Amino acid sequence: MNLRLGAHVSISGGMDKAIERQEEIGGNCGQIFAGSPRTWSVSEYTDEEGQSFQDLRDEKDQNPYVIHSTYLVNLATPKDDLFEKSLNCLQAELDAAGKLGVEFVVFHPGAHTGSGRENGIERIAEGIDELDIPGNVTLLLENTAGKGTTLGRSMGELRQMIDHADTPNEKIGVCIDTCHAHAAGYELREQEGFEDFLQEIKEDVGLERIKVLHLNDSKDEKGSEKDNHEHIGDGNIGEDGFRNVVNAEEFEKLPMVLETPTSNGKSYKENLEKIKELKR
Ligand SMILES: [Zn+2]
Ligand SMILES: [Zn+2]
Repeated sequence: MNLRLGAHVSISGGMDKAIERQEEIGGNCGQIFAGSPRTWSVSEYTDEEGQSFQDLRDEKDQNPYVIHSTYLVNLATPKDDLFEKSLNCLQAELDAAGKLGVEFVVFHPGAHTGSGRENGIERIAEGIDELDIPGNVTLLLENTAGKGTTLGRSMGELRQMIDHADTPNEKIGVCIDTCHAHAAGYELREQEGFEDFLQEIKEDVGLERIKVLHLNDSKDEKGSEKDNHEHIGDGNIGEDGFRNVVNAEEFEKLPMVLETPTSNGKSYKENLEKIKELKR
């Protein structure tokens, strides 16, 4: 059994530092930001930097990696300037991934802010088609908590975005975040409800499109539409929910990345060990 489990780590101090942080918590895959997540700035990497990042990951057995896009990106927006900025930012992140040998770039599809669901989905598809996705990179849509006009809360909506895009299907995948799924109303704790969730994934998205899992517990009730991550087992998804997720054979081969809180309470290492403990 080759479990791929790691956490979102900071790149502050350089890419080598990220690998070091991952090693300290015992992760063997992971996620980073390519710049500062609350600004539009994305770092550019040289071939040498890219190569050394890849070499170090191979040496430390940390694969695969994911770049998480900045939170400002909104491809569903009806505003042209924000749409352009979002496209430029995502493109820079994809380019960084290409250079760094990072397999996946994940982004939140965005919010239509009043233009309507259909228009928002169309806009996202249009945006995806404008991007030049490097050969070794797959672009991932992340499911969302679904607050307000945010799109991507259901598997069906994610599928629509993929279907509306002309980009070859194998260049687009999906990342499932457990906290967001719970917030959007999916049942993860009860066996039966969880089976329904898996069924919906299979029917509406297709298992082959799921590439990464974000493992986060939730501070809020199921269906709350709130996106507040909690330590694994301590929230409303709880140990029962994560036992379902990490033991589902449908998810067996997927890299799992923690985005649990870092400012208070438990460390990534403790969360990672909790997942291993729940794994049968
Ligand atoms: Zn996530
Ligand atoms: Zn979240």
